[in-house]
Amino acid sequence: MDNCIFCKIVKREIPSAIVYEDEIIMAFRDISPQAPHHILIIPKIHITSLEEINDTNEYIAGRIISRAAAIAKELKLDGYRLVINTNESAGQTVFHLHCHLLGGRQMKWPPG
Ligand code: 5GP
Ligand code: ZN
Repeated sequence: MDNCIFCKIVKREIPSAIVYEDEIIMAFRDISPQAPHHILIIPKIHITSLEEINDTNEYIAGRIISRAAAIAKELKLDGYRLVINTNESAGQTVFHLHCHLLGGRQMKWPPG
C-alpha cells in the first residue's frame, strides 16, 4: 500500500535490520527498541490490523506467532513478550499488522 512505512520496508524502499524473511512474513528490528531485543514481525501483504484477520488469512497470524517463538529461541531468550497493539486506543501507531517481540530484560505486569 502506498505511504505505508512497513510496506516500504518490505519493498526495501526504507532500510531495516532484517532478521528473518520468507514468502509470507518479514521480521526486523524496531527503530526505537523498548528492550535489548525488540523485533517486529509483519505480513508482507498489507493487513491494517488484527481486525482484518479472518478464516481465509489466519495462517498469516499463525506464521507470525510461530516465527516469533522461533526467533526468541534462536536468540536464546529465557523469557519474552509478544504484543499486537490493535487500534489507536491500544497504542497502535503503524497501521500495518505487526507483532512486537520483546526480550532481554525483566518485564513487568500489568503493562501501562
Ligand atoms: P505500534 O505502536 O504501532 O504498535 O508499533 C509501531 C512500531 O514501529 C514502534 O515500536 C516504532 O518504533 C516502530 N517503527 C516505526 N517506524 C519504523 C521504521 O521506519 N523502522 C523500524 N524498524 N521501526 C519503525
Ligand atoms: Zn503496509
